[in-house]
Amino acid sequence: MALPDKITSFLDKEVLDRFLRYVQVYTTSDETTGTYPSTQRQFDLGRMLEKECKELGLKDVTLDEHCYLYATLPASAGVKTETIGLVAHVDTSPAVSGENVKPYLRANYDGSALTFPDDPNLQVTTQDSPELKEFVGDTIITGSGTTLLGADDKAGVAEIMTAVAAMIKFQELKHGEIRICFTPDEEIGQGTDKITLAKLPKFNYTMDGGEPGELEAECFDAWGATITFKGVSVHPGYAKNKMVNAATVLARFLAALPEWETPEHTELREGFFHITGISGTEEEATAKMIIRDFVVPKNEHRMDHLRRLKEMFEFKHPGLKINLEFKHQYENMWTVMEKFPESVNLARQAMEAAGIPVKYKAIRGGTDGARLSLMGHPTPNIFAGGMLFHSRKEWVAKSSLTKAATVIVLLAEQWTKK
Ligand SMILES: [Zn+2]
Repeated sequence: MALPDKITSFLDKEVLDRFLRYVQVYTTSDETTGTYPSTQRQFDLGRMLEKECKELGLKDVTLDEHCYLYATLPASAGVKTETIGLVAHVDTSPAVSGENVKPYLRANYDGSALTFPDDPNLQVTTQDSPELKEFVGDTIITGSGTTLLGADDKAGVAEIMTAVAAMIKFQELKHGEIRICFTPDEEIGQGTDKITLAKLPKFNYTMDGGEPGELEAECFDAWGATITFKGVSVHPGYAKNKMVNAATVLARFLAALPEWETPEHTELREGFFHITGISGTEEEATAKMIIRDFVVPKNEHRMDHLRRLKEMFEFKHPGLKINLEFKHQYENMWTVMEKFPESVNLARQAMEAAGIPVKYKAIRGGTDGARLSLMGHPTPNIFAGGMLFHSRKEWVAKSSLTKAATVIVLLAEQWTKK
């Protein structure tokens, strides 16, 4: 790695200590409460981090009433560059229990299936996670079998805190001003709802998600469609040449969509139609659908396809009225990012400087970073190391935590050379 041994060994120990401490705090979010934050327990980690930020000597440390924590590391003496923001979320997914997480460490991993002390039936095999093979000899961390681990995204939180601690301890690490922002409720899609944009710099990075080298600066261009069929209802005994059964015609309409353009048949940069609900009677029937692609013209093409089907079906069934309603849900964050390519490039260079091969990916969904980008704050996503998120099989390798912390330190340095 590109850092002196004493710094790498500091990162190595510090990031693990912090990670193991943070995952034991119960911070599951809950989409049913309607409050901000969705659960008060997220403050338990918020307050712990607030205290630790103050102990580190960070400036402007504030934990607001919605559980957003902001803190500033001033620039190294004599360094003048843009401020960068580092963002991670404190909540864990409500999909699996996050209460009473007991991190379980396996030193010198031998490449076999992972087993769990609190559930003998649970295993992580190399089929579940082919990546495991790359971590023989490493220390692998999971929960004990009854909960998720919470590497999503406490790995990100620990890596940011550790990198900042290192920049304070080792004055030779040069950096501009760094702004930290820890958010609640990312897992329920509300991570930026109450964020104070004025407290964030122009350029930010989320530390969230996958394996070492992952770098993401694109997400779906997302549309929602509501398709309503109005038919003609007549007593079935007297319906010949009169009835137009909205429910039946809707079924035929949906069957006419390209069979392979669905989530279950697509990956990487392929887009899709995805039906999320159907209801109806003879009189009226409705389908709800989402439409996704990375490229706007391809989504426009899908919407045109639906318009042409509408004309065809109305022509074929006199009396039928089809109403198509499209709603743009979110844009590909790349539309903002492409105006600021240096932000992504510097992340790429930081990974290369750390000796980590870059795995550039497009996110098949939306993220907090995507929302921030579209609000005018370009925010690529950098790996945090965790795998098999939102499950009891979630795991992370110790070396991945250290690598992500290293990337942050080198990223801050890259910005000083810009
Ligand atoms: Zn996450």
